[in-house]
Amino acid sequence: MTDLLQAGRLERAHKATAEAGLDALLLTPGADLRYLTGYDAHPLERLTCLVVTASGSAALVVPELEKAAAEASPAGELDLPIVAWPEGGDAYAVVRDLLRDACGGAPGQVGIANRMWAEQALAFAAALPGTEQALAGPVLRELRVRKSPAEVEALRRAAHAIDAVHDRVGEWLRAGRTEAEVGRDIAEAILDHGHAEAAFVIVGSGPNGASPHHALSDRVIGPGEPVVVDIGGPMPDGYCSDSTRVYCLGDPPPEFAAYYAVLLDAQEQACAAVRPGVTAGEVDAACREPIAAAGYGEYFIHRTGHGIGLDGHEEPYVIGGSGEILESGMAFSIEPGIYLPGRHGARIEDIVVCTESGVDRLNRSPRELVIL
Ligand code: ZN
Ligand code: ZN
Repeated sequence: MTDLLQAGRLERAHKATAEAGLDALLLTPGADLRYLTGYDAHPLERLTCLVVTASGSAALVVPELEKAAAEASPAGELDLPIVAWPEGGDAYAVVRDLLRDACGGAPGQVGIANRMWAEQALAFAAALPGTEQALAGPVLRELRVRKSPAEVEALRRAAHAIDAVHDRVGEWLRAGRTEAEVGRDIAEAILDHGHAEAAFVIVGSGPNGASPHHALSDRVIGPGEPVVVDIGGPMPDGYCSDSTRVYCLGDPPPEFAAYYAVLLDAQEQACAAVRPGVTAGEVDAACREPIAAAGYGEYFIHRTGHGIGLDGHEEPYVIGGSGEILESGMAFSIEPGIYLPGRHGARIEDIVVCTESGVDRLNRSPRELVIL
C-alpha cells in the first residue's frame, strides 16, 4: 500500500454508496477505478468492471487475458477478489450474478461510471432489467475532490515536470517552424521530463492563439507573433499536469502587451482569492472583474478553471455563479484567457491547491510573457 493509494478507500466507497441510496457502483476503466484500486486498466471492448456494493463486498471483474495484469497491479495487493471471465463468455452475466449474491436479489439502483462507454451501459441495462441506473460520479466525487497530502505532492511533481518543459520551450519555438514541428519537440520533452503521456500539446501561434483549444497545425510561425503553449498529461502515478505560458518571437504587438498585463494581474488576483470558505464562483469573479474592467470581458470566453487529479479535468469547476465552497485539499487550475478573434490570444494557467491558510501554487515557471 503506497501513500498515494491509501488504505480505506474501498471502505469509504461502500459507505458512500449506501449513503447515496445506491445498491452498488459499476466502475469501468478510468480514474474512479484507479482511485479505488490503483489499477490503471485500459478501456477496451472487453468488460473490466469494479463492482462495489453498499453491503460491503467488492470484486474486480476482468477478461481472462487481463487477469495477470490486474493481479500484478496494486489491485492485486488489496483484499479484493479478481474474477476473470473467459473469452467469449458473458461478462455482464458475471456482474449480474455477483450483484444478486451481494444484494440478495436484483439490485434496485446502481451507479455507473460517468465515462462508461454507452455500449457497456446499455449492456448492463439489458442484463439487469428493472434495475435503475444513476451516475456514480457524485459518489466518487466526494472521495476524490479533496486531495490527500500524498496526492498534492503527486500533483506538485507533475507541475514541476511540466514547468521544466516550459523552461525549455525557447529551444524549439522559432519563427519559420510550424506549430506541429514545435509540438513534436515539446511532446518528446514532456515524456523526457517524466510524464507517462503527452496528453495534449497546444501551440497556438498568432491568430490560432485566439482559439483556446486549438491543438497543432502546419501553420508556419511568424516573427513577432505571440504563441500560446498549453501542455500537460499524466505522470506514471496517474496524477496530471496542465500549464499554459505565452511566448513571443520578438517584441509583442502593443495591444497584445497591454492585455497581457491585464491577464497577468487577473490570474494573480484569482489565485490570491483562493482560500477555504470562498466559493468557486467568487474565485471566477476575482479573475473576470479586472479583465472586464479593462474592456476585455467579452474576450474571456471560458470558465476560470477546472479541478485536476487522476483526471485532467474533474471537479471542482471554477465557473461563474458556482456556489461550490472551496475546502482545503481541492486542486484546480486558474487559467484566464483573452482571445481576439483573427488576431491573437493569451492564457496563463497554473494549478493551485486550496490549503488551510490560503493557496499553494504548484507551478513555478515564470508567468510573465516570455520574449524569445
Ligand atoms: Zn491547459
Ligand atoms: Zn486546464
